[in-house]
Amino acid sequence: MIKKPQSYVGKNVITCEIAAAYTFCKLKAYFLLNLGKQEAQHEHISILKEETNKNRENYLSMIKMKIQEAKPYSPEEMKKGISTLLDANFTFGDLEAYADVLTRVEQSSSQIGHIYVPTIVIGTYKLSKDQKLLLAFSGYVLSKLQKEKVPFGTIITNGNVAHIIKLESLYKEIESLLMIITKWVDTHNSESPPIILNNHCPLSPFLETCEKKSL
Ligand code: SF4
Repeated sequence: MIKKPQSYVGKNVITCEIAAAYTFCKLKAYFLLNLGKQEAQHEHISILKEETNKNRENYLSMIKMKIQEAKPYSPEEMKKGISTLLDANFTFGDLEAYADVLTRVEQSSSQIGHIYVPTIVIGTYKLSKDQKLLLAFSGYVLSKLQKEKVPFGTIITNGNVAHIIKLESLYKEIESLLMIITKWVDTHNSESPPIILNNHCPLSPFLETCEKKSL
């Protein structure tokens, strides 16, 4: 059981980072939910972030040059049906997601004839499970917002290579992890998951805490 810092009390927001952390370690997701993002980071994570930011900047500049209509995301621009929305932070209830680009695709089953699908940019050549889950979380929140299932999304890896990812099977995973995380949110002073040291620990910002506790 941990005490939330005052600045974080009452926020109870489930972000894509928390969902992705759950794939590595339940306790890491629990810590992120209750304590928020940590400033101190492993060097490898900082390098990865730099690479991601560089790729994101390049990708977004390319999109802006190619698609004149592209605009920064806002719920209003989304309602207008603008073809390409950039840098999108969107929420549904206590779920908070992010996509670098939202692209409108025509879909006859949708009441308004189209839906938006997410694209995220990453800083690696290969795709990992947590990166796919980040995308799926965005797709899941977008599905809730649009009242229409988002069937796929795109991940852009190093060198601007686009990978289209089917999201349906990942939604099941999102739903089961959300059941647990929502219980943490709803239960005052919920019991934290046990410390299970694993391969991801050296990169985790909570390593020191866990090492001290497991002594
Ligand atoms: S240090 Fe390891 S056990 Fe502790 S939260 Fe991080 S990943 Fe989980």
